[in-house]
Amino acid sequence: MRDGIDRDQVSGALLRWYDRAARVLPWRVGPAERAAGVVPDPYRVWLSEVMLQQTTVATVKAYFHRFTTRWPTVEALAAAQDTEVMAEWAGLGYYARARNLIACARAVAGQGGFPDTLDGLRALPGIGAYTAASVAAIAFDRSETVVDGNVERVVARLFAVRDPMPKSKPMLARLATRLTPDERAGDFAQAMMDLGATVCTPRAPRCGDCPLAGFCLAQEQGIAAELPVKTAKTPKPTRRGIAYVAIREDGAPLLETRPPKGLLGGMPGWPGSDWGDDPTPAPPLTADWALLPGVVKHTFTHFHLELTVATARVPQAVNPETGDFRPDFDPGALPTVMRKVWDHAASGDLFAGREGA
Ligand code: SF4
Repeated sequence: MRDGIDRDQVSGALLRWYDRAARVLPWRVGPAERAAGVVPDPYRVWLSEVMLQQTTVATVKAYFHRFTTRWPTVEALAAAQDTEVMAEWAGLGYYARARNLIACARAVAGQGGFPDTLDGLRALPGIGAYTAASVAAIAFDRSETVVDGNVERVVARLFAVRDPMPKSKPMLARLATRLTPDERAGDFAQAMMDLGATVCTPRAPRCGDCPLAGFCLAQEQGIAAELPVKTAKTPKPTRRGIAYVAIREDGAPLLETRPPKGLLGGMPGWPGSDWGDDPTPAPPLTADWALLPGVVKHTFTHFHLELTVATARVPQAVNPETGDFRPDFDPGALPTVMRKVWDHAASGDLFAGREGA
């Protein structure tokens, strides 16, 4: 292998480390259990991998627990109402992923279980290259290579790749593939992720504790913390908008369901203006709207959002142009940005003078 890095030596050293230092995670069958013959449940592997994309392990733990308690099997999830699943997903972000989750669960239940090959998994709705490789490797021990940000960092350092990201991604994926062993590919994938998360960390890699230190070119050259090199990102634009929080006399707030496609698709939200440089006011009904001081800030993948919040108390007999009043409102079912709007509105005087508010 390039630069004298030997696949069997590297994977062997990493797996020995994993056998004694693997993180205990609720969706994981640890190395001791695996050695004792416990087989991973592909449903739990798949669910955790979908949740973990762009979200921290700490956040995912609570969601994973709630999902698997409520829907312990893929068949149970497939039979759930869309709205129930979307409400449980609220706060995890990337709502298109929740819709794909439901579609995938139904496809899997319809074909009697998860396929056990990369191609079979790729054919499922919403499963991309990363998720297919991770389920194939972790659940079915296929010799597939799983490449996430942690793995890219470890590989860039092991091979001292100085080419900047994201251009170097295909090269890093090829190098990661060349390290993947034929046996225990699932444990190897998880070991790489663990190493990146706990030892080969972004800012201050702990090379002194690393099982791969003897093979690592970046460590040898004293440039570990500088890798991977990243191309400077173009700053995200900031968009502005107005969110309208109307509360009816009986306490029911006015909410709408966002269109199924697009940002926050299918999720409940506050009626509002467009989001742009100079949003046009678009109140959902005529009322004595009060603009709250300050703005609600939220960052999406491609832009920052600043929402001004307008609030109003309205009589029982009003007909909004959009949305409907929801007496059974549960703030927990809102996506994060809409929850922030609610918290901001509730911090104003929206409920002042209201009994029990
Ligand atoms: Fe990362 Fe250091 Fe280990 Fe190299 S030796 S893989 S830089 S922790």
